[in-house]
Amino acid sequence: MTIETASQAAYLVAALLFILALGGLSRHETAAVGNQLGIAGMALALATTTAVTVHDNVPVTNLVVLVVATALGGGIGLRRARVVEMTGMPELIALLHSFVGLAAVLVGWNGYLLVEHAAHGAEALDLQSQDMLGIHHAEVVIGVFIGAVTFTGSIVANLKLSARIRSAPLTLAGKNLLNLGALAAFVGLTAWFCARPQLWVLVAVTVVALALGWHLVASIGGGDMPVVVSMLNSYSGWAAAASGFLLDNDLLIITGALVGSSGAYLSYIMCRAMNRSFVSVIAGGFGIVGVPAEDGDVGEHREMSAEQVAGLLSGASSVIITPGYGMAVAQAQYGVAELTRKLRDRGVQVRFGIHPVAGRLPGHMNVLLAEAKVPYDIVLEMDEINDDFPATDVVLVIGANDTVNPAAAEDPTSPIAGMPVLTVWEASNVIVFKRSMAVGYAGVQNPLFFRENSSMLFGDAKDRVGDILRAM
Ligand code: NDP
Repeated sequence: MTIETASQAAYLVAALLFILALGGLSRHETAAVGNQLGIAGMALALATTTAVTVHDNVPVTNLVVLVVATALGGGIGLRRARVVEMTGMPELIALLHSFVGLAAVLVGWNGYLLVEHAAHGAEALDLQSQDMLGIHHAEVVIGVFIGAVTFTGSIVANLKLSARIRSAPLTLAGKNLLNLGALAAFVGLTAWFCARPQLWVLVAVTVVALALGWHLVASIGGGDMPVVVSMLNSYSGWAAAASGFLLDNDLLIITGALVGSSGAYLSYIMCRAMNRSFVSVIAGGFGIVGVPAEDGDVGEHREMSAEQVAGLLSGASSVIITPGYGMAVAQAQYGVAELTRKLRDRGVQVRFGIHPVAGRLPGHMNVLLAEAKVPYDIVLEMDEINDDFPATDVVLVIGANDTVNPAAAEDPTSPIAGMPVLTVWEASNVIVFKRSMAVGYAGVQNPLFFRENSSMLFGDAKDRVGDILRAM
């Protein structure tokens, strides 16, 4: 068997492992196995690529660069993954997407320097005909474009998610025209580059794409960021697939297409869950138009002590817990799991209601609850539980805010109007765990806090859950 056949077979197995990994990751019960299959696929892909490179008799300096880069990148990745807090995952993921984008830009430029720029490039890359050369021009320019949009878009997403820049949308005059203009320029430049592959065209495409990526994500505000993160995930997949075409690497094409299509599908699901138009969100059409947090006549709120909440829970027969970002920040999931066990031991029906965009990344709450060993069968999606609130004695809103905001359902002028929310206010009693009256991620005031049947339990969610456990 030649190295060529062996490597193609290994790449095929790696691709199958990635597909099985995605299948595994779609269910709680099989997620850990899915992850391991993904790791196995990536290890096989890396080992095969290294073996092919060694076999190609490349200069020893190239091999040294390969080994050093792999060890350095792997080491940094391992360390970052070990130290990252669960709440810091979305910004880390955004940063990783930016690397994929940058890599695609570099691969595109490298393709240009090797073929279009080099005197006898076509022969150098075994491009037998003029047609093949034309395809190469298109691959270069499309790869650079998608990669550059992903690169700057992901950097802005990282800055917004880590609160280093404001999450409010940038609203430049004629922003849609700017986006459309950039797309039209890209189409024109691509046609030009395919006809006459000149350096200035590639520079112009790179600059336009970098600016477009920055503007697209800067224009999207607060509540729509979950869609942006999964859209960038999708873009990074297509950027990798474009690199796969340029490098003639089937595995990269398959993997890129898997990431690209699954990211696009996730964005679509999230848009549906938030009642947003997919096209509008990715075009930066929606967004939260900086609503002043403490504005307007918001009314009086009531407070309860942990002991009072413990008393309320003792008399309840049904409880629903709706966790949000604050539970993740406080790392309160273990106390919440303990509270769930105690209540269930006393015969109380306890269930969890999970909003699709609760927390800061898709599935954030599910991961935390699974980590704390909360049984899967009592963790329900928003659609599965929303009809049950009217028959519920107590709802514990633990560090959630936007995802339980009645303004989304009742106030058509609200920036989050139309986004489906957990209708917690329909229960007999609602206890909101948070540290202050501050707004949530979308920057919108929450009328839930001022309802007759709502009470605030102020403080860090982990401490307050601990107080309730002691009082019980
Ligand atoms: P929010 O971000 O709306 O609110 C979280 C609340 O937790 C805050 O009001 C905060 O209030 C409270 N909190 C923070 N720290 C603590 C603590 N230590 N103890 C107790 N409470 C605390 O949360 P939701 O989960 O309801 O909504 C998620 C938001 O994030 C949505 O707007 C969503 O669009 C957005 N988003 C979601 C992503 C996803 O993929 N899931 C990605 C990016 C954004 P206080 O400061 O007063 O304590």
